[in-house]
Amino acid sequence: MNKFTALVMTLLALLQFSCAQISGGPGSAPTGSAGGVVVLDIGHFTGAGGASTPGAVNGKRISECSWWYQYAYYTKKVIENAGYTCVVTNRGNRPTDPTLAAYADRAGVVQLNHPDKNAARYPSKYHPDRVASGMVSADYAISRKAACVVFLHHNSSGGWTSGASPSLIICNKYNGGRLADCLARTMEARILNHGMDNGGRGCSVSVRSKDADRSAGWMNACDDSGIPAAVIECAFLNNRNHANFLADDANARRYAEAVGHGVVKYMREHGSEPRHIRENEDKADEGSFGYAAESRSLNVPGAKRLLH
Ligand SMILES: [Zn+2]
Repeated sequence: MNKFTALVMTLLALLQFSCAQISGGPGSAPTGSAGGVVVLDIGHFTGAGGASTPGAVNGKRISECSWWYQYAYYTKKVIENAGYTCVVTNRGNRPTDPTLAAYADRAGVVQLNHPDKNAARYPSKYHPDRVASGMVSADYAISRKAACVVFLHHNSSGGWTSGASPSLIICNKYNGGRLADCLARTMEARILNHGMDNGGRGCSVSVRSKDADRSAGWMNACDDSGIPAAVIECAFLNNRNHANFLADDANARRYAEAVGHGVVKYMREHGSEPRHIRENEDKADEGSFGYAAESRSLNVPGAKRLLH
């Protein structure tokens, strides 16, 4: 080995060392054996299941919540098969319906036992100026120092009872963009217009960053802790075409697996990138409780109000 080769090898070793320092240092999620825990949170809860199909499809009327109880298992499997640890959560209590309870067991659902009455908002344990209904799910992901969290929903809209419809991934402001993009591109490659009619249209990505907007508080709480978060709103459950697609077992599995492949794409391509963590918990940003007019008018017990 000549002097020049030795110098180059030393420099390469130093570079590798510094990259390892960056990816493992403050600002990035703590890494497990294969890059940290992925949290999948089933949206809504038994008794308040979210949107549902416009009528019985294949003999069933399906809610967002019950659909994901059945199929989150397949999303999780794809993520685990890629070498990552994956936890499925739901804010509600264990379902009493035996079929749903069996699905919960199969997916290993961690019940957070916090069904929110009338969508009441409450503060995050970790970021008490953030308020939302469903905050317990974000707090769980924060407690696990999750590599990312995906909230499993389906979209619905009064105007979309028939025909093709636009699909959407919602994400948090600072950390969620790449996760949402990986999910959107994967759903386009595997599902949208590939079995599930979407009128030839793709999937858009939208940032939700104000606590006053419906449910954004949990996205912001994740963001404050440097956790990428995304909400799956790709299929319109009250769209008859989409509902027909999702009511078919083989299609449903494929859809749920596509979400898993989107997560794996994110973890492989961006999972070790530095995270943006909120610097000052006493400084309001535009999303904070108390900032926007709507949340300013709310009286949420225990919430920390940064602006008056
Ligand atoms: Zn929903």
